[in-house]
Amino acid sequence: MSQVIRLGLVGLGKIARDQHLPAIAAHPDLELVAVASRNACAEGLPYFADLEAMLREGPAIDAVILCQPPQARYAAARTALLAGKHVFLEKPPGATVTEVEALIALAKAQGVSLFASWHSRYAAGVAAAKAWLAANPPRHIQINWKEDVRHWHPGQTWIWQAGGFGVFDPGINALSILTEIVDEPVRLVRAHLTTPSNCQAPIAATLAMQTASDQPIDAEFDFRQTGPQSWDIIVQSDARRLVLGHGGNVLTIDGVAQTCDSEAEYPLMYAHFAQLVRAGQSDVDLAPLRLVADAFLCGEPYSTEAFHD
Ligand code: NAP
Repeated sequence: MSQVIRLGLVGLGKIARDQHLPAIAAHPDLELVAVASRNACAEGLPYFADLEAMLREGPAIDAVILCQPPQARYAAARTALLAGKHVFLEKPPGATVTEVEALIALAKAQGVSLFASWHSRYAAGVAAAKAWLAANPPRHIQINWKEDVRHWHPGQTWIWQAGGFGVFDPGINALSILTEIVDEPVRLVRAHLTTPSNCQAPIAATLAMQTASDQPIDAEFDFRQTGPQSWDIIVQSDARRLVLGHGGNVLTIDGVAQTCDSEAEYPLMYAHFAQLVRAGQSDVDLAPLRLVADAFLCGEPYSTEAFHD
């Protein structure tokens, strides 16, 4: 491999423009050399309608970054791995657990790196929260993850289709933090999924979970939140209380705001990805995706009024 890791990015949409392009540009060992997107092109770079064309006709690349919706992730990842490329998966890493397991096996067989990114795990307060929980065992965890879908996901029809996750698209970020900071397995006990009559994926969900040592965890996900938005995890440990707010970027312990580094989720993920590639390793944790899959498996379905963007 060349000194610099040459990247081809697939799915030039909101998250690719907002986060991936600046994070790649800021990393000295990474260079974006091509883009594959059906309806978009990045200025000054070779662009292709799809990944196959980029691999066939484009400049040499070492790794492929997949930023499309989850329904398209598996086929593209498989193509990239079969072509011998390292792969960076946006979250969620796939539409099903088994397809990601197949990708893990394929990456191993191909001798390339596979990274299932969970950006919220890199939020500024998460490492300190994890250390606090190790010293202060949680007695109850409450997750409130409520946002206005019309503001954050305008026109994203894929999110409402099967495999698009609905409110679990942001909710899985909370579950990725949860499964990072709690140092024991978490299982789903019960779920209620509320789905608009004209959609295939839920607009709201409540989850009851438990740690392996039987401590309760409750989560409320809602896409209908107007006004203040909530991306908060509240941990009660006997008389002590931790609040991880703003998607993991603000930390308060016993009412006292803690000093955190500034937000750098995507730069930190790209630094990790570069290390994985250099070391010939993979990093794929399925725990957040399993909890979502379990919620879809055993959740009680409720129908609600039709949703119009
Ligand atoms: P998006 O802008 O709606 O989609 C990204 C791009 O994927 C689109 O511009 C489109 O490009 C392509 N695409 C759309 N539907 C497709 C389909 N059915 N098959 C193949 N390609 C398709 O979505 P996004 O917000 O960037 O999210 C993409 C992924 O990143 C999701 O998994 C999401 O969970 C994750 N993510 C999003 C955010 C965020 O704040 N938005 C944050 C973190 C992670 P072309 O039409 O040009 O091919």
